Amino acid sequence: MPSLRNSDLARRDLQVVWHPCTQMRDHETLPMIPIRNGQGVWLEDYEGKRYLDAISSWWVNLFGHANPRINARIREQLEQLEHVIFAGFTHQPAIEVAERLRVLTPSGLSRCFFADNGSAAVEVAVKMSFHYWRNMGQPQKQRFITLGNSYHGETLGALAVGNVELYKSIYQPLLMDVITVPSPDCYGREAGETWEAYSRHRFTLMEEALERHAGEVAAVIVEPLVQCAGNMRMYHPVYLELLREACDRHQVLLIADEIAVGFGRTGTMFACEQAGIRPDLMCLSKGLTGGYLPLSAVLTTEPIYQAFYDEYTRLNAFLHSHSYTGNPLACAAALATLEIFATEPVIERNRTLARTLSELIAPLADHPRVGEVRQHGMIAAVEMARDKRSREPFDWRERRGLTVYRHALERGVLLRPVGNVVYFMPPYVVDEDQLRLMVEVAREGIDKATCD
Ligand code: PMP
Repeated sequence: MPSLRNSDLARRDLQVVWHPCTQMRDHETLPMIPIRNGQGVWLEDYEGKRYLDAISSWWVNLFGHANPRINARIREQLEQLEHVIFAGFTHQPAIEVAERLRVLTPSGLSRCFFADNGSAAVEVAVKMSFHYWRNMGQPQKQRFITLGNSYHGETLGALAVGNVELYKSIYQPLLMDVITVPSPDCYGREAGETWEAYSRHRFTLMEEALERHAGEVAAVIVEPLVQCAGNMRMYHPVYLELLREACDRHQVLLIADEIAVGFGRTGTMFACEQAGIRPDLMCLSKGLTGGYLPLSAVLTTEPIYQAFYDEYTRLNAFLHSHSYTGNPLACAAALATLEIFATEPVIERNRTLARTLSELIAPLADHPRVGEVRQHGMIAAVEMARDKRSREPFDWRERRGLTVYRHALERGVLLRPVGNVVYFMPPYVVDEDQLRLMVEVAREGIDKATCD
């Protein structure tokens, strides 16, 4: 068979495929990159060019592409059972994933409901919390409080509880009405104000919303510590501490969407740990399978589970399902991933890597067109700004991030800025030289994108 060329595959792709989150017309000038294989932090195209995956393939990959331990576990599972209906039937990999997650997540999250992607997990959490109050005889608690600049996925329920205009506004007529509280994101703080002081101060807006609406609210949903799709904006754990206390006081459930920040991303296994809190529902996906296969889980408490446990005819059951719920291959990948966490000092290693990354990016704070450099563990972001002092942003239509993206690709690094924010979210198997390359290429890209 003649060897495949990038250009042939790209041409064929553009004739038949419609890609996610893409204005397809961009590909009249932007190359589509066919990837033949992956190894560790590297992706390789059909002509041998390599790209450092500095964004973990949309934040999913934790331990590298073609990880031998995960590969082996999936192969083993493949010989036994590829899939089985998950209603009325079960299997060891799913049971074991649920058992392990119960131990790993904050104490009290004892029940695991599986779904097959992040947005679906958010839909489950939204429906479950609404339905919980109905079963508890409080059907008036139907609404959701969400944060400005938040992101929870693309399906209609998840989109409704999110707040990134770019993805949401066009579909507004299709979406349920939510209560949106301004974000605690610390980019807006005054010079000299600490993250903690700012996040604490912003909480008064949440307290006000809860005071006004708690009687009609089922749950508050947040992305703990980092609003990833919302330009990697970050806030202090104190906000979560205050939120937990206020949700209890106002009898409102708390949903933590740890889909992007879970599994060691922010320096602890789950971001909620930094605030010492336990949400009522926790959504997990992405890194759960090490970035191999789609799987998600909603962890919740025994009292919530019990509110659905009843005579069938009372119609209190949670009748939500997806065909691939608890897929055994995906569960096998999750087990191998959780096994790596159990047997290797991943979190400690990440702390060292995060320190190195922090030192490498620090000089970018002095760049004349950088408004802020920020970091929570293995997520670091550099926000480009038209005016450094006032932080006036570049107009989104100028697509400065795209210039960085193009430059990085030429240099063999996959960076995919969100708006004016260049960020790094590498797999945990990245080494110091690779971190250095990533940051060096980002700096060149930022120079190029802001040189006018
Ligand atoms: N919640 C958060 C916080 C996310 O970052 C994402 C994905 N970027 C989702 C939900 C949606 O997950 P998925 O893309 O798997 O539907």
